Amino acid sequence: MKIVMLGAPGAGKGTQAKMLSEKYGIPHISTGDIFRMNIKNNTELGKKAKGYMDAGQLVPDELVVDLVVDRIKAKDCMQGFILDGFPRTIPQAEALDYALNNQNEKIDYAINVDVPDEHIVERMSGRRACSDCGATYHVVTIPSKKEGICDVCGGTLVLREDDKPETVKKRLEVYHEQTKPLIDYYNKKENLLKVDGTQGIQVVFEEITKVLG
Ligand code: AMP
Repeated sequence: MKIVMLGAPGAGKGTQAKMLSEKYGIPHISTGDIFRMNIKNNTELGKKAKGYMDAGQLVPDELVVDLVVDRIKAKDCMQGFILDGFPRTIPQAEALDYALNNQNEKIDYAINVDVPDEHIVERMSGRRACSDCGATYHVVTIPSKKEGICDVCGGTLVLREDDKPETVKKRLEVYHEQTKPLIDYYNKKENLLKVDGTQGIQVVFEEITKVLG
């Protein structure tokens, strides 16, 4: 099953992607996580991406498309994958379709986790990320077992630079301008699944899996 997660930053698509990845045994590929790992490891890609990310802007398409197209050719993607944070622009979606088409494949579902803007800034202020492994939490809805400490690796939890309110506002603008048109793009291809992301995490998950099977 090949899945694309759509939705504003903070809509909860990463949380759902992780749960779907566990249920269906297919990899969860988060381009944001890939960039953050590269920044942490001080790679050339990380150096190029950092400025855009800190400013709440998108990293240029040419830095992300080949990376994803290569990643989905890996062996662990044979049974499918869940893309989280990609595509984020129409050219990225077209490049993905082109690469899949060449292998007689296609995206099965684009899942739009819908959350209105007014909820987003509030949600993001409670989000915490592990400064070591990148795992994400929320102080109210997904707290870590020990406050401020990552359940996965014991690292310190922080409010990510790009989750600060000023940057979230910029990210939302970018989302409306460049990413939201993808809802229409996948709707036309008749593989769009829309869920109300303001509901509880488990309810959203059940709505999605009811359709996916
Ligand atoms: P995320 O964790 O998915 O919210 O991504 C964090 C940041 O990484 C975004 O605000 C962008 O700067 C960058 N990014 C992640 N995925 C993409 C993408 N597909 N295209 C461009 N920029 C991206």
